[in-house]
Amino acid sequence: MTIRIDGLEKRYGSVVALRGIDLEIPGGGIVGLLGPNGAGKTTLVEIMEGLREPTRGSVSVLGLDPTTQARRLKERIGVQLQSTSIPLDLTPAEVLGLYASFYPRSRPIDEGLEQVGLEAKRKALVRNLSGGQRQRLALGMALIHEPELLILDEPTTGLDPVARRGIHEVIRQYRASGHSVILTTHYIEEAELLCDRVIVIRAGEVVADGTPFQLIAKAEGVSTLWIAFSGPFDPAPLVKAGATPHGVEGNHHRFVTRDPAAAVVALGDILRGQEVSLVDLRMKRPTLEDVYLELVGGDADGEPGEEE
Ligand code: ATP
Repeated sequence: MTIRIDGLEKRYGSVVALRGIDLEIPGGGIVGLLGPNGAGKTTLVEIMEGLREPTRGSVSVLGLDPTTQARRLKERIGVQLQSTSIPLDLTPAEVLGLYASFYPRSRPIDEGLEQVGLEAKRKALVRNLSGGQRQRLALGMALIHEPELLILDEPTTGLDPVARRGIHEVIRQYRASGHSVILTTHYIEEAELLCDRVIVIRAGEVVADGTPFQLIAKAEGVSTLWIAFSGPFDPAPLVKAGATPHGVEGNHHRFVTRDPAAAVVALGDILRGQEVSLVDLRMKRPTLEDVYLELVGGDADGEPGEEE
């Protein structure tokens, strides 16, 4: 088990930031922590990294206690904090060299630069790198000692979609070598694309945990179908299957339903039993974003409450 957390509680004075978190994270894969501002994500990852102490409960990371074995843990995990300050007057090669010197073992600097796609910038000054290149360098700093576990706090915040994809590629390659990644993000689409498992935290508690597919499947969300037929048709089979007509858009009849599989079966019945053929069918299923808003919606601010 890469991470095991039992009954974790963290208080800052009277604010309860984490209230009884239990988690088991086996090795391999990318785990995304999602949640509104103030939900407790940074508190949770920084406890895993040994930077903050739990108030109550136990935490084991790679078999080590982050509070009492922080030094040994540091050599085995790679960490990117929410804001990493990188010396501006050094080159990426110098920065990675500096970070490599902190560890007993590390990979060659050229390999480190290549891993994050910065070979061409090895001699540029950090101050002249773009935001995306700096984020990749920060990732290179976290990876230089070939850690077994990578913990990233909002690694793509503020980046454009192309730069974000560059970061995703580095993270995927790292996963491909069998290692584990834990990351926090506010980009739900990123979690859906990148993560094998998504954990949603709200006000210091886990409110959902599963693969993106499992979370979407569990959601209450409705699917929309747009169906175009060659002529007039009787929607009764669709309505009987639980689909509600929602008007017409161009040639398409729109239906909403919580059971899209039943609607597709009913569509087959219409095509077999009525004198029409199908011209077009489009479907929109709920996304992870719909599920997320269902879970934390109306709570734009996920701040935990005061002690009860
Ligand atoms: P964000 O998405 O905005 O980064 P988060 O989910 O990472 O938020 P945390 O930063 O862990 O949330 O904060 C959780 C709660 O704990 C918030 O109410 C925050 O104000 C509080 N908190 C965090 N750090 C401290 C601290 N050092 N002292 C006091 N309260 C803190």
